[in-house]
Amino acid sequence: MNPFSLAGKTALVTGANTGIGQAIALAMGRAGASVICAGRQSCAETVSQIAEAREIILDFSDPMAAGDVFANDQIDILVNNAGTIRRNAAVDFTEADWDDVLDVNLKAVFFNCQAFGRAVFERKGTGSIVNVASLLSLQGGIRVASYTAAKHGVAGITKILANEWAAKGINVNAIAPGYIVSNNTAALIKDEARNKAILERIPAGRWGEPDDIGETAVFLASPAAKYVHGAILNVDGGWLAR
Ligand code: NAP
Repeated sequence: MNPFSLAGKTALVTGANTGIGQAIALAMGRAGASVICAGRQSCAETVSQIAEAREIILDFSDPMAAGDVFANDQIDILVNNAGTIRRNAAVDFTEADWDDVLDVNLKAVFFNCQAFGRAVFERKGTGSIVNVASLLSLQGGIRVASYTAAKHGVAGITKILANEWAAKGINVNAIAPGYIVSNNTAALIKDEARNKAILERIPAGRWGEPDDIGETAVFLASPAAKYVHGAILNVDGGWLAR
């Protein structure tokens, strides 16, 4: 048996309409999974490129939006990828820019994990969770207070859930992507000075592409990662090694 195969598994990927989430959904499809592509808007473009896939609408501005999804479907893999960002100086940061980001990037992630865990334990099954963290789970960043707080939180809940669930059949891990070309980083890419400074620090000498993250998620969700628990796996072109 190929230990990297996801054949026979069903994966739910949040934010699968674009960027990193789309790349993860496509990679999981290539690895043989049936993929439920979740978005606050249609994921039809992603679904059309996967052999066995469907879409559901989930908007995490209500962090409890996933509701009964995990109880109703047998889902083996949960990828918490959906995320948002607000940029402003710390002295000017608004409560709305704090709450909106914490709801989507942290509260929804935890309660998705909880609902997934309950469903897996209920059926006495096994499963894998892959959370999409960030370099800002480990570094401070600048002008992104709520995002950094949320992503540090994602690293924390990945570890606590691994501690509670590793022996109960659920692998919980996270990926910390480096600087990846997507809507999330469009403002940085447009800013010539920031873009140059970022590029100069990346040992790989280029920005990452969403595709650079897809297969890492497949690995963490596959039998090949059966003894990997609570890891925050950097996929950053070497940024943190610098
Ligand atoms: P992106 O293209 O902006 O994708 C973000 C995804 O999250 C989109 O599908 C977006 O939907 C969805 N989303 C945002 N708010 C949502 C909500 N309220 N409910 C449901 N879905 C929502 O950016 P990305 O880079 O691919 O980001 C994916 C993940 O990677 C995020 O968690 C991000 O923090 C993380 N990340 C990105 C980088 C990077 O350099 N790009 C680095 C580290 C971590 P819409 O398309 O409808 O907005």
